[in-house]
Amino acid sequence: MSLGNRIMAWSEQAARHSEPGPGVTRLLGSPEHKALLADLEGWMKQAGLTTELDGAGNLVGRTEPKPGRKTLIIGSHQDTVRQGGAYDGMLGILLPLAVLQDIHDQNETLPVNIELIAFSDEEGARFSSTLVGSSALAGTFNPDILNATDRDGTTLQSALRSLGANTDQIPTLKRDPTQLAGFLEVHIEQGPILESLDLPVGVVSAITGIERHKVHITGKAGHAGTTPMHLRQDALLAATDVVRAVNDLCQNTEDLVGVVGELNVTPNAVNVIPSGVDLTIELRSPVTRVRETARQQLLALLNDRIAAHACQWKHDLVYEQQEVDCSPVIQQQLHSAITACGWQPHTLFSGAGHDGLAMARSMPIGMLFVRCTDGLSHHPDEAITEADANAAAQVIKHALQNWEVPA
Ligand SMILES: [Zn+2]
Repeated sequence: MSLGNRIMAWSEQAARHSEPGPGVTRLLGSPEHKALLADLEGWMKQAGLTTELDGAGNLVGRTEPKPGRKTLIIGSHQDTVRQGGAYDGMLGILLPLAVLQDIHDQNETLPVNIELIAFSDEEGARFSSTLVGSSALAGTFNPDILNATDRDGTTLQSALRSLGANTDQIPTLKRDPTQLAGFLEVHIEQGPILESLDLPVGVVSAITGIERHKVHITGKAGHAGTTPMHLRQDALLAATDVVRAVNDLCQNTEDLVGVVGELNVTPNAVNVIPSGVDLTIELRSPVTRVRETARQQLLALLNDRIAAHACQWKHDLVYEQQEVDCSPVIQQQLHSAITACGWQPHTLFSGAGHDGLAMARSMPIGMLFVRCTDGLSHHPDEAITEADANAAAQVIKHALQNWEVPA
């Protein structure tokens, strides 16, 4: 069985741990998460790793620690968006796992100790915060988010405990940077660049900065038949101008993308003028200055456009993540591995957030992107080929065998 073959077979099995419906929906602390952990634990043990579920719900598999060697953390997130794909996150767990199994089967030892981690949560689809697992390892976990609730009022704390995670341990999970050789993540590209270049893999130079706002617009409900058009305070009309303002700004600003992804209308009735809208705005840029300038412009723009509909509004910046650069040393190691495997090394930037955003706070990080079909991700049709999985696994194997440990 080739590495690619094993990775595809495991991915298929992992994707079965999903809520019903199209694609894969596996949220933090769900029964599907718990069922996946049982499979992963079995596969990790088969690859010679000892396993532990830590207090943040991360499943950690460790190679037998060799004294005097530093530890390279490898991993990605187990969780998905709602109706996402089978490879976003999971590939970064299963691909290195297949490599570690191969190395174990051949009785090889690596120049570094390995911790392979299935992070509990990166997407944040269930609770309002993301990077739960990786922030715990980086020592930046905010304990307040344990009280965050999902749509049904379940807290993050009780979701983690339902997995068997002892959340009291979270403060002890921070890794000692002096003992680390870095963090490496394999991830599908989630974009079309590698496909356009006809390359199976690419080296990531940096991960985007992200900010998210919650906006509430207050209008005035009224009878949709009797209130004259010019006397209306229609919150939904104001919201459509917000959607347009975000799009206009991003279309006209280099290195900036953004979206209004969530919209809730009150009272949401066929014959009532909308009295309120809650919406989210997300902005992303690789350059902090660009994003911060865009935020100021956007807020000024919203003031004007919402006032034009005689509505009031308020906003909260609910999430902000600075961009991070990947370690030049790790980028070079991945370049060398790609060259050694006979591929053209190519460097690209990540427009999506990843666990490396949190991990970079206390260790050097690196990422390898794998080509995905049609550049598609966060979608049930998300796909990679077995040949690309195999190519990426060979690159990772070569990189691990030759990992240079920083002094
Ligand atoms: Zn991901």
